[in-house]
Amino acid sequence: MTNSSLILSLLLSMCAFIACKTQEPVSVSTYPIPPITQVSSPPSATGAMNPNANLSQRPKNIILLIGDGMGMTQITLGMLANGDKSALESYPVVGIHKPRSYDDLITDSAAAATAFATGKRTYNGAIGVDADTIPVPTILELCESQGMPTGLVATSTIVHATPASFASHNPYRKNYEAIAADFMDANVDVLIGGGKKYFERRTTDASNLLDTLRSLDYYVSDFRDDIDDLPTETLQNIAYFTADTDPLKADMGRDYLLPATKYTLDYLDHKSGQEGFFAMIEGSQIDWGGHANDDQYVITEYLDYDPVIAYAYEWAKADGETLVIVTADHETGGLAIQPDSTMDSLVTAFTSTYHTATMIPVFAFGPGSELFAGIYDNTAIFDKMVDLLELHDQSKQPD
Ligand SMILES: [Zn+2]
Repeated sequence: MTNSSLILSLLLSMCAFIACKTQEPVSVSTYPIPPITQVSSPPSATGAMNPNANLSQRPKNIILLIGDGMGMTQITLGMLANGDKSALESYPVVGIHKPRSYDDLITDSAAAATAFATGKRTYNGAIGVDADTIPVPTILELCESQGMPTGLVATSTIVHATPASFASHNPYRKNYEAIAADFMDANVDVLIGGGKKYFERRTTDASNLLDTLRSLDYYVSDFRDDIDDLPTETLQNIAYFTADTDPLKADMGRDYLLPATKYTLDYLDHKSGQEGFFAMIEGSQIDWGGHANDDQYVITEYLDYDPVIAYAYEWAKADGETLVIVTADHETGGLAIQPDSTMDSLVTAFTSTYHTATMIPVFAFGPGSELFAGIYDNTAIFDKMVDLLELHDQSKQPD
């Protein structure tokens, strides 16, 4: 071995553990495109609102897993860092959704989650309201109205855009205290996430919403207690706050998402009757790694979420009546894996500190999963879930 190749191999071995170098963006170009109109894409064979065609079975339960900012490259990066393995490889059905918002090619998490939750394209920043700021029923609310227990779990605050859009209605995503107040009416059976202060120590009013939750027969607990100490096989609702504000990063010791997932699925399974349940579980901070243009942050958050994706698959497989859908709201960072990358040394580049317009993969397993093949609008995720759970009648709204 020559001196220079010895130095090279030493350098490479120093960054052996998923070493990443971030390059400058290669090029940024601007192309003129025709104005975007609000015409939905034509329903494809698989994207159509006709679930009875070739539908072998309906699910009783739906688990919706949203990796915030988890585009194809984030998945690829996480998979390579995980020895070229991802839990997503178990999922037999793969589709693609088009993630834009009502008036912007680039969606934010609020408009995207509102699209999944309500089937409506809305403006960036909107939480469970349409483009005219009118509240729209969410899939979670439709399930609740059918007597199905529901759950929301996140590694952000529970009032952050993605979970908020399933259980609250607000014209602006950062009205965290108003969003927290909406949770008092939502009757979500299990809530696990950060943001305790928006309930407990409010600046917009003097109320303590933790007391309100208790008066609504919630079992209220927080990070000082273990998830394992939460009551099981109970009919009481559960609110478990994982942090006062934002939960920690995974690499700073946050480790609750998998235990919270296990708890939530067993809790909901016990509580649900013939009606089944709905759960949304978010890997919130993959997005934050993208915003920070920090590939290690993206990787560690993806690797925190991958076991949840694996667990939901195994749980649904054992259950036999559960549909699992895994997707993202949008890509974040314009991330690319660059030439000169090896399995030991990944070279990445980001083109943005915000979200991008790239289409987003959807992975599905379980009864009804076949509906998720093909290419469709992000709103179709709501339509398909409503079709599969036969919630049409309540969700029909005059246009
Ligand atoms: Zn974001």
